[in-house]
Amino acid sequence: MIAPWLGETWTRLVGLGERLPHALLFVGPTGLGKRALAEALAARLLCDAPAADGRACGHCAACQWRLSGNHPDLHVVIPAADAEEADAGEGEAAREQGATKAKSSQIVIEQIRELQSALTVTGHHSARRVIVLDPAEAMNAFTANALLKLLEEPPAGCVFVLVSSAPRRLLPTIRSRCQQWAFARPDEAALAHWRAHAGKDAAALLAVGGGMPLAAERLAEAGGAALLDRFVRDLERLEPPGALRLAGQWEAWLKAKESAAAGFGLPQLIGWMQRWVSDLVALRLGGRVRFFPAQEGLLSALASRTSVASASNCYNEFNQIGRVAQHPLNLRLVLEDMLLRYVKVMTGARE
Ligand SMILES: [Zn+2]
Repeated sequence: MIAPWLGETWTRLVGLGERLPHALLFVGPTGLGKRALAEALAARLLCDAPAADGRACGHCAACQWRLSGNHPDLHVVIPAADAEEADAGEGEAAREQGATKAKSSQIVIEQIRELQSALTVTGHHSARRVIVLDPAEAMNAFTANALLKLLEEPPAGCVFVLVSSAPRRLLPTIRSRCQQWAFARPDEAALAHWRAHAGKDAAALLAVGGGMPLAAERLAEAGGAALLDRFVRDLERLEPPGALRLAGQWEAWLKAKESAAAGFGLPQLIGWMQRWVSDLVALRLGGRVRFFPAQEGLLSALASRTSVASASNCYNEFNQIGRVAQHPLNLRLVLEDMLLRYVKVMTGARE
């Protein structure tokens, strides 16, 4: 599905026709629909008879093949952990494997080698082969270099679509091989349209998620409203001496199966904390809350306990934590650190 706010980007992509470069890089924040657009483009390129608006027809032999997940000329390269997520609940074998061995959250060198050997064979159905790689930043230097070789000397008919929400973490040589497409957040009009059709939960989760509609929708469907409730309740009750205890509870919370199933992990939790504190700063400066409109009363009470300096300092510290906490060595320590910094804010007015 192509998100409504990506319609214009889609039209421009389709408009390139034969001038489409052999390597594209879609960049922009998570939750905008970059991956879905990459897959729609792949589908179009492989389809025997695309529709007038450029979309794959969904009926031809190539589309049937693709829809059954078996198109030999479509290569979706994603970390094993993401593939497992997509298959969740689909069979005993996958679950058993998952239980015995934690899947990699990185794209590993074997995947690029497999891709390389698959691409040395000519296309099966048509002359075209499409490779969707997401997230492109999830590769170590060796793997990235192997991919770079493919990009430098692409086998005939190949189109690479790389997707990244952190393009600065890509090798500059990979970036320069790709035509970059920056995906911006939807504007207010597009969001208003989306809100009118989304449920109440999705709208609340959109506010705290920083304006990424698809991420909010996914989270709402997976019970995100309950997660948000708990987050607010925990912070409402938190008194400074309870910070370490709450860190322990949050560790268990993040490790619970339900949280993983909802795609709710440390990065999301840190994001919520950042926006929570950002709202405190806004209130302290005499502004309005932006991310937690339903909690304005509680936030105002909390804001009266802090100072602008203390809260904005904490906000900057959370930014730092967010940058290094993608794959923390010790989840508990990150949570303790974050909550201790936060409770310091609550005593900041006296500083
Ligand atoms: Zn088709």
